[in-house]
Parts: sequence; C-alpha cells; structure tokens
Amino acid sequence: MSILPAPAGTGIVFRRTDLDGFEIEAISRNVARVSYATSLMKKGVLISTTEHLLSALIGLGIDNAIVELDNLELPILDGSAKPFVEMIQRVGIRKQRRARKYLKINRELELREGNKFIAVYPSESYSVSYSINFPHPLIGKETFRVELSNGSYLKHIAAARTFGSREDEQVMRNMGLIRGASRENCIVLTREGVENGPLRFPDEFVRHKVLDLVGDLALLGKQILGNVVADRAGHAMHTALVSRILRDKTLWEEVTHPVKNSETEYPARSEAAAGSAL
Ligand SMILES: [Zn+2]
Repeated sequence: MSILPAPAGTGIVFRRTDLDGFEIEAISRNVARVSYATSLMKKGVLISTTEHLLSALIGLGIDNAIVELDNLELPILDGSAKPFVEMIQRVGIRKQRRARKYLKINRELELREGNKFIAVYPSESYSVSYSINFPHPLIGKETFRVELSNGSYLKHIAAARTFGSREDEQVMRNMGLIRGASRENCIVLTREGVENGPLRFPDEFVRHKVLDLVGDLALLGKQILGNVVADRAGHAMHTALVSRILRDKTLWEEVTHPVKNSETEYPARSEAAAGSAL
C-alpha cells in the first residue's frame, strides 16, 4: 500500500494498482459486504478492511489522499491505526487552500436493532461515546467517551488494537481475509484472558470500537460535527448510520467554518505544511 497526495476536493480514493489503477472512492455509496470488517465494492472490484486506515486519516485531519493498493485487502499491520498514523506523520501533512467542508448534524437520528444502538446528536464538535458488553472476564461492560476535534484521537484511540478469538480467526481465514494475521496483529482472546498481552490500555477493546466507528463514519466523505453514541454496535450499524444520515438531508447541513477553529484543532497540520507532500 502507498498513500499519495491528492488535490483539494478529491476525498479519500482507493486505487487498485493490480487492476489497471481502478479507483474506488471511500464513500457510503460504495459500501459492500460488512461483517468482521468494512469492505467497499465498485463494479465488482473489492477493497476490504478499510476502517483502520480511514480512521487514521480522519484522526490526523486528512481530507484528500489516494491510497494505492496491489491487493483487495489493506495491510492489517498491528491491528490498530498507529502504524498508519506514524507513517503519515513521518512524511508530513500539507495544508491545502480550500476551506474544509464539514457535515454538521442538526437533528438527532437513532437506530436500534435488538439490544444494539447507534445514534448521532447535534454538536459543534465531533465526539464519540461507545459502550460494549462482551462476555469475557477481561472485558464485560466498558464505556469510552472521547472528544475527537482536539487531537485526542492520536493519544487515546489510534493505538487500540483489534481483538478476536481463535475461532473468529478461522472464520476470517475461510473468507480469504487476514492473510497476514498472526498474534502480532490482533489481541487474541482466550477463555480467561489474552494470549498475547499485555494490553496497551486496560480498556483497549472499547477504544478499538471507537477506532472502527471513526473509520466507518469516514464514509460520510466529510469530517462530521456531531455527537455519536453507540452501544454494542458494529460495522453493519456504523455503515447503516452513515447511509441513513446521507439519505436524509434534513438531518444535516454542510458548513465550512465550524464554531471551533479547525486550525487549532490539528496543530500538526500547519507545522507539517513545509514537509513533503501528503
Ligand atoms: Zn477494527
């Protein structure tokens, strides 16, 4: 995978270099099959496991980039967004002249499915509150709330790794996914604890759910201004929220200048402006 700079207004676009540079935009319309991971599909061409990279891009405040890929699945690396964040910070981020467009939520939207819940409420900034209730001695009920507009993503979310059991792993391998997976790229749960500790945060599991949610909400195609609340949701509900938001234009408006000054939210952007392009 390589990440290339793109002009303002491009958004995030995946490019399959193994298929004559076929491009798939990271937007809700291209969402395909969603189970263990979020996949995009356009004209039968698939890009799988987009959420961790998209999450890193949102967390870094990157609106425009081309992501070249010579395969259908993004590299899983350590199962978090941290390696992507570090690589991007190393090359630097260029501030572009065009004002960023935000999708500002004006009216609440709540979705329920059994005991799963996801909602978005009006807010002047982007925040997420996630709850999980996972029947495992190390997890149980966890809630994590984070304000994302102030750089907290990099400190509190980016390093949280994905988790699963050996059984999940087998299912995913049967689906042709996680070809590179090993105990270096996810937390492997055993009945009593984890096979490959220590955890990076005591509540790493719920933080990873926030990471996934941020990555899936990137499919809105714009940075969002809203408070997102999720309880035991997953990729399917995250992406359902995205498509419901986009479908109902009475829920939101496009704004260029949020109440908070976006330049102070991402100080790394201007510092990195003189660096190499991305
Ligand atoms: Zn994930």
